[in-house]
Amino acid sequence: MSANPYRKATYLLSAHKLDQLPKDDGREVAFVGRSNVGKSSVINALTGRRALARTSKLPGRTQQLNYFLINEEVMLVDLPGYGYAKVPKQLKAQWSELINGYFNIRQSLTGLVLIVDIRRDITEQDLSIINWCETVETPVHLLVNKADKLAFGARKEALDRWKRQADKSGSVQLFSATRKTGISELVAVLDEWLFV
Ligand code: GDP
Repeated sequence: MSANPYRKATYLLSAHKLDQLPKDDGREVAFVGRSNVGKSSVINALTGRRALARTSKLPGRTQQLNYFLINEEVMLVDLPGYGYAKVPKQLKAQWSELINGYFNIRQSLTGLVLIVDIRRDITEQDLSIINWCETVETPVHLLVNKADKLAFGARKEALDRWKRQADKSGSVQLFSATRKTGISELVAVLDEWLFV
């Protein structure tokens, strides 16, 4: 197995507004998904840290982009989660504005990891992210997390279902942040986007 360069990740900054983003002259991969899919847990599993990406006490309320540095040219970015039912309308609008703005201006964005929960169905917002990636020709990797929640047969069925639901997206894989399975597959995708 090749080395995992993402274990070198260090926290860089949190941007609440687009003018707070770091310099736009490298390569970065963004992690996105609805609240509670395990986005922070995935980033922590990938980087081998217990708490690099913090889990929020108020789901959906942290409207910020958290940047992690791998080297001077390569970054990972944790986008705010979406779809939490109790979030007020105004915050949802703020999310859309921030994320649309980010997608539209960010030259460094090389690929997107869209995280979903194996037991759930794809949402409108998941689909609009996949569509957006298609439009701007940015590759998206669908990470089907919480695979440990299903037994072998059901897991395989769910993976096939996700592949059908997200057939426009580039690639699909199973992952379990809890069991730490699927990390080398994810590392291979990120390496191809960031280090080739
Ligand atoms: P975020 O809101 O998307 O950042 O999600 P968190 O990382 O805070 O995780 C939300 C909840 O899902 C927590 O209780 C995690 O322990 C749990 N979780 C995350 N990943 C997994 C996984 O792969 N398997 C299981 N069983 N639970 C997970």
